[in-house]
Amino acid sequence: MLSTLTITQAHDKLTKREVSSTELIQACIDRIEAVDGTLNAIVCRNFEKALEEAKKIDSVGKFPSPLTGIPYLTKDVYCEAGVPTTACSNILREKTYIPPFDSTTRKRLKEAGAISVGKTNTDEFTMGASTETSCYGPTRNPWDTTRVAGGSSGGSAAGVAASEGLFALGTDTGGSIRQPAGFCGTTGLRTTYGRTSRYGVMSMASSLDTIGPICKTVEDTAIVLQSIAGKDPLDATTSDVPVPDYRADLRKGMKGLRVGIPKEYFIDGLDPSVEASVKAAIKEFERQGATLVDISLPHTKYALATYYVICPSEVSSNMARYDGVRYGHTVKNPKSLLDYYEQVRSTGFGSEVKRRIMIGTYALSAGYYDAYYRQAQKVRTLIGRDFDEAFKNVDVILTPVSPTPAFTVGAHADDPVAMYLEDAFMDGAVMAGIPAMSIPCGFSKNNLPIGLQLMTAQWQEALLLRAAYAYEQETDWHTKLPPL
Ligand code: GLN
Repeated sequence: MLSTLTITQAHDKLTKREVSSTELIQACIDRIEAVDGTLNAIVCRNFEKALEEAKKIDSVGKFPSPLTGIPYLTKDVYCEAGVPTTACSNILREKTYIPPFDSTTRKRLKEAGAISVGKTNTDEFTMGASTETSCYGPTRNPWDTTRVAGGSSGGSAAGVAASEGLFALGTDTGGSIRQPAGFCGTTGLRTTYGRTSRYGVMSMASSLDTIGPICKTVEDTAIVLQSIAGKDPLDATTSDVPVPDYRADLRKGMKGLRVGIPKEYFIDGLDPSVEASVKAAIKEFERQGATLVDISLPHTKYALATYYVICPSEVSSNMARYDGVRYGHTVKNPKSLLDYYEQVRSTGFGSEVKRRIMIGTYALSAGYYDAYYRQAQKVRTLIGRDFDEAFKNVDVILTPVSPTPAFTVGAHADDPVAMYLEDAFMDGAVMAGIPAMSIPCGFSKNNLPIGLQLMTAQWQEALLLRAAYAYEQETDWHTKLPPL
C-alpha cells in the first residue's frame, strides 16, 4: 500500500519515477475511504483539489523539495484558503467558516509542493486529551477502535498511524501533539515556543500554543520542521534564531550525550507496561553510549495546576471573538444584543469550552487575578528555571509521554479532572517553552503503543532529533502498523 510509505521513501520513488504524486494522493484517498468510517479522523475531505495539485506537479515532473507531491493531513484549526475550517466546534460548523487566507505553515508547505488531502478531527478548539469534545464525535485509535486516539490532535495522529496521509500537522498547547502521537505509535514534535509560526492557526492559549508535525519517522519530522520553522513577520512571537539544517546532525549518534532522568516523572500510578517500556528505552540510550544522569525538576508537581490556570485564562480571552458578529453562527429573533451573544455562545460552544471560559474569566477578574493568573505566571518561571538548571548538566531529558496507554472511549466522560490529569507529563515542557518529542518505545500487553518523551533546551530541536533518531535506528517500534 503506497500510503504506508514514509516521506523519505515516497520522495525517493517520485524522483526515480517509480510512482507519481497522483498515485500517492489516490492511495491516501482510497485508504481514507476504506477506514475512516471506523476511525473518524478526517472531518473535511479535500480530494478533488488535492488530485488537481498532484496532476500539476506530475506534469512538471520535478521534485525539488523532499515534500513536493507528498500528501498530508491538516488539523482542523489551520486556516486553508477556500477550505472549511471549523475547529470541530458547532459555532463555526453551522455556517461553515471558510477562511480567505492560508496559515503561514500551510503557505510554506504549499511552496514546498506538499498537498493537503483533508482536515483532521480535534477536540473542540483543541481543548481536551481524547478528541471526544469534537462536534464530529471522537476519533478512534487504529490500534484498538474501542479506545481514544488521544487529543487534541487525535485525528492527525490516528490518520498518520492508519496511513491516511504521509504526515500530519498538529498543535500542542498542553500536550496535544505528543500525547496522541504516543497513543497511536507515531512520532510527534512540539517545537520551541516561537520556532514555528502560529499565524492563521486558531488560538487556544496564545502564550502556550505551538504548532508542529506528526510523522512516521524522526527523519520525516526533521524534513517537515525544516520547511515550516523560522521567523514569520505575521507572528511577532516567532524568533529570528537561525534555523539550522535539521538533518545535518541526525546521524551523529548517541555517543557523548548526557541524558537526564527526572525522578518526578516516575511516579506511583504509572502503568507497569509504560514503566517497563520507558526504562528499557533508557537502557537502550545507555547501551548506545549516552551517559545517564539522575536529575530533579522539583516544581514539576505544580506544572499541571499552573497550566490549568494559565490555559483557561487565555482561552477565555481568545474565545471572545466567537460572538456571532465577527465569527460564529447566528441565531434568529434575539430579544436584545446581550441575548444574541448569549444564545450564539450557549448554542455554539460545547461544555468543555464553556467550562474553560468560566474558569478563565474568574481567574482573570479583578480581585482574583493576583491570586491565580499572576501567581501561576510566577510558578511558570520557577518551572522554567528547573529546566534551565537541569540543562546545565544534561543534553536531553527522557520521560514517559502518558501515565497509561490509550484509554477507552467514554472513560473520562463525566470527569473533566481525570481528563486534565492525562496531561501530567506534558505541561513541564509547555511551561518552560522548550521543544519536546514523542517517539514509539514499545507496546502494552494488549498491543497498545507506548510513547517515550524527549526534551531539550530551547532551540535545540536538532539535538532532540539526533537523540531520537539514534534510538529509532536501533529499534523497530515505529515500523509496526495497526491491525486496521
Ligand atoms: N489536554 C490539554 C488540554 O486540554 C491539551 C490541549 C492542547 O495541547 N491543545 O488543555
